[in-house]
Amino acid sequence: MADLATYTQMLITTEEIFEEFEDLDTRDQSQYLLELGYDLPRFALEEQRECDLVHGCQSQVWLTARAEETSSDPVIEFRADSDAEIVRGLITVLLASYSGKTASEILRLPIIDVFTRLQLKQYISPQRHNGLQGMVDRIREIARRHAPCTAYTEPSPVQVQLHTDTVAQPATVYDTLAVRRHFPVLNQLLDDGLTPVFLDSGASAQKPQVVIDKEREVEEQYFANAYRGRYRFGARIDEELENARQKIATFISAESSRQIAFTSGTTATINAVAFGWGNAHVEEGDEILITEMEHHANFVPWQQLALQRNATLRFIPMTNDGRLDMNRLDDVLTKKTKVLSVCGMSNVLGTVNPITELAARAHDVGAIIVVDGAQSVPHQVTNVVADDVDFLIFSGHKLYGPTGVGILYGKADRLEETDPILFGGHMIDRVYRDHSTWAAPPARFEAGTLPIVQAIGLGAAVDWVTGIGLASIHEHEQRLLQTATEQLQRIPGLTIFGPSVDRKGAIISFRIDDVHPEDLAIMLDRRAVLTRHGHHCAMPLHDLLGVSGTTRASFAAYNTKDDVTALVSAVEYACDELKRRR
Ligand code: PLP
Repeated sequence: MADLATYTQMLITTEEIFEEFEDLDTRDQSQYLLELGYDLPRFALEEQRECDLVHGCQSQVWLTARAEETSSDPVIEFRADSDAEIVRGLITVLLASYSGKTASEILRLPIIDVFTRLQLKQYISPQRHNGLQGMVDRIREIARRHAPCTAYTEPSPVQVQLHTDTVAQPATVYDTLAVRRHFPVLNQLLDDGLTPVFLDSGASAQKPQVVIDKEREVEEQYFANAYRGRYRFGARIDEELENARQKIATFISAESSRQIAFTSGTTATINAVAFGWGNAHVEEGDEILITEMEHHANFVPWQQLALQRNATLRFIPMTNDGRLDMNRLDDVLTKKTKVLSVCGMSNVLGTVNPITELAARAHDVGAIIVVDGAQSVPHQVTNVVADDVDFLIFSGHKLYGPTGVGILYGKADRLEETDPILFGGHMIDRVYRDHSTWAAPPARFEAGTLPIVQAIGLGAAVDWVTGIGLASIHEHEQRLLQTATEQLQRIPGLTIFGPSVDRKGAIISFRIDDVHPEDLAIMLDRRAVLTRHGHHCAMPLHDLLGVSGTTRASFAAYNTKDDVTALVSAVEYACDELKRRR
């Protein structure tokens, strides 16, 4: 013990650190933390042992401990070192707090109070925060091994929660025109003197000014690569990204922001789950269950996985009005099913699927459930815990956010058992010449440079949606859906595909006898009514419907009753024109 005891005596105490801090301004406090790092005794090269590395740290951190051998509640002396001076500063704070205390004192110590008093949030990036959590966990783990079992009952683990955010409160009244004013693209006069009636939000929603401003703020004021630099831009970017991650976690009611990975979009993410989870868990003879209403993004990856693994792709039967036939679910969901992957809302029919029930039924047979939330997350409140889904995936650009960013949510143990499919920087724990180990989620799924500006922009989009209130947006969209459905149905020869309004979201896909969907979309554009036509990346569904394509109008927070009127009158005009010319 002697050398360690001497080592501890060489260390500064927490009281001394507090005293120094109180006399310094913010900039000098940060410098002081660095100086603490310079003063910490360094490990000799032979002491920097692989087995003493603390995992989860961005830098190398070695930590050793020695406990008195005679006592039942021994004093534990810690030593630690890092290759980064700022981390050595943090280590000094940790050692001052923990080293030389008994095991039970260590377990009882409210370390978060020390961090709060030192206002560490200002000096350390979210990534460092993870490393700090790793060190605290290791120290407590050592103390736990030495603590007398009677002296201590385990409380919940210490969370070094330095980065939190408040969420805007929803407005009580839905003021459509006020909402619309947030969208510059919708408030312009086009060349032909019309204002756009944008009805293609199912493909990509427009962005409110706050999202555009946020992206611009990042580009103009502090852009840098993420999770790399300790200089002020880098630190700010890391903090903004972690704030966005937390906002998204809160938005879908995830337990932790560690369960949210930034990806490039829904398509990339479903591939990541199908092959990252599927390759490890789906074997020859197993079954993968999807539906015929899936977007190709949630269809083709599973089809290809099934082909590669010699598994069988099966489909939940559908009713004539475009819902899943839950009465026939047992025919296809069996003990052989390893994964059920289904959209929360169909991008063609608008059908809202019963996710909670599907999750329970999938779990009953030992399968996992993957939800393609690309359409559902922007239009209805999502609670991943209440729904008990294993993975939820969605894109930023349909949620009033930027393109190029998507989200992977997973239950903690599901993420743990998923292999990365993209390899490179940031996603590793250690790289050796002959093999590598992976970082903990979410970093494991974030190889390379992230869509930084887009992810931060998505955080702003989530704030905007939360500020208006997603439940209010949903109600508003459903009212538009009801009105549009009633009025379109009166047009002779017009067929709307999908279930009744109470079973679907705000998407209307329709055809008019003897009118090609593309011709119709072009005619609607003449009135600045912007709709989509074609198979909407859902060919198997269109095969089932017996049509090659449809025209689709999809609604969002900014659409108004006037937009519905414009749609209906433009469809009537287009029908007359197209039929007259024949
Ligand atoms: N899933 C659904 C239900 C969709 O509607 C879409 C896009 O329209 C996707 C997946 C693909 O999303 P992304 O193009 O953002 O990858």
